[in-house]
Amino acid sequence: MKYTCTRDSGVSVSASKAILTGISPDGGLFLPESFPSFSQEEIADMAKLNYAGRAAMVMGKFLTDFSAEELDRYTKAAYAEDRFGENTAPVVKLSDSAYILELFHGPTSAFKDFALQILPYLLTASARKNGVNEDIVILVATSGDTGKAALEGFADVEGTKICVFYPNGGTSPIQKLQMTTQKGENVLVTAVDGNFDDAQTGVKAIFTDADYNAELLKSGLRLSSANSINWGRLVPQVAYYFSAYCDLVNQGSISLGDSINVCVPTGNFGNILAARIAQACGLPVSRFICASNSNNVLTDFISTGVYDRNRPFYLTTSPSMDILISSNLERLLYMECGDSDEVKDYMASLSKDGRYQVSDSLKTAIQAQFDCGYADDAMAAETIKKVFADKQYLADPHTAVAINVYDAYKARTGDSTPTVIASTASPFKFPLSVLKALDADCSGEEFDLLDRVSKISGLSAPAALAGLREAKERFTGSIPPANMRDFLSEGFIG
Ligand SMILES: *Cc1c(COP(=O)(O)O)cnc(C)c1O
Repeated sequence: MKYTCTRDSGVSVSASKAILTGISPDGGLFLPESFPSFSQEEIADMAKLNYAGRAAMVMGKFLTDFSAEELDRYTKAAYAEDRFGENTAPVVKLSDSAYILELFHGPTSAFKDFALQILPYLLTASARKNGVNEDIVILVATSGDTGKAALEGFADVEGTKICVFYPNGGTSPIQKLQMTTQKGENVLVTAVDGNFDDAQTGVKAIFTDADYNAELLKSGLRLSSANSINWGRLVPQVAYYFSAYCDLVNQGSISLGDSINVCVPTGNFGNILAARIAQACGLPVSRFICASNSNNVLTDFISTGVYDRNRPFYLTTSPSMDILISSNLERLLYMECGDSDEVKDYMASLSKDGRYQVSDSLKTAIQAQFDCGYADDAMAAETIKKVFADKQYLADPHTAVAINVYDAYKARTGDSTPTVIASTASPFKFPLSVLKALDADCSGEEFDLLDRVSKISGLSAPAALAGLREAKERFTGSIPPANMRDFLSEGFIG
């Protein structure tokens, strides 16, 4: 299978090349030239496998220049029980038609682990397949979640190194501890005296410094990124929608061949696009429900066909969805219109004016599959409280946005198709917002809050989060943005 580019359908590269390159030189994103398909028999066979087996089966159809043996090894290592627990991506019944797909049982308690645990294997193998022999150095500027998930994925993976920059004072106390206590011989972490944009600008400057990149190559090092638009981050996510469907069949909630809906709390549009790709491969999905917080640029886009980022930016209790440019939407536009020139025009207009309007036919095609809605912080908090009172289920603020939007969808349409709602983070990652929503005592420091969430819910906090209380900080330093390059050199070149 070959991969083409959303802005130039003349491009045709292998899967490993797409993963190694990350983003096409013209700024476009890689997508399969055509989608593989899974028959009902294959889905029935998949239902007999464990999560790693299911993921290997799904990814095998996309990553055709990887051997079955390779994918088997990578998925077993990435989704091992010591990383994701016994039940990798469990489906929990919330009501007659709503099923929560819990994607937060990985090492950092958020769904990004599904991609970032396996990406290091895909990336190093892609490098070898394309004759690249240097060690891969991953640079990350993070405002929290991505940095930790990338650190956990790349720590002690042979042939890789990772350096994470986070804004001093710009993360939650737990997020900071998650990063500064990171273990591994090949990791570097530092605070940067500045905000997220300063860290991000510093990383971009390092990537585009040709002389410096040449110097790194001489030392056997090659820079790369673990950015969420990399195909290697998207393809592992397709697998958990197949897995959820298999579980629903196994549990007797649906019969093989029945349709489901999928509802996803959305930011960069990667997670919900993975569901749309699963459908393109034969998974029976009738509606995709795109849930946003107050940064509801996608709600407006799906309702009107106009994407407009010129609007206020809100900091919400679901910070991982605080995004005004949803990069992976570009892939959906290409999938629905099939015209790279058209997509290129939209993206040019987005970068020039911050807005674009799709054609009527493209709008109609998207609306035929996608529904949408948004919930602000107060609505999400109300949902956390209500779902806990009615169902004894504790949702994190991102998941609560999705549940709220799903409930509104169901009330509006009367559609009672079984719906998989993606739960993207553990409630223990956001203890303050969760306690506030429950009208519980919010006094004390972060670890007191964790204990209280545990007491109220009867669940134990994820071991990795609770363990931070005793963990030793390794990376306590902070540097000015101008010193980021030197920090990297001192750490990795010596
Ligand atoms: C990243 C993230 C999201 C948004 O996912 P996209 O794939 O960017 O749409 C939602 N919830 C949580 C907890 C996240 O970390």
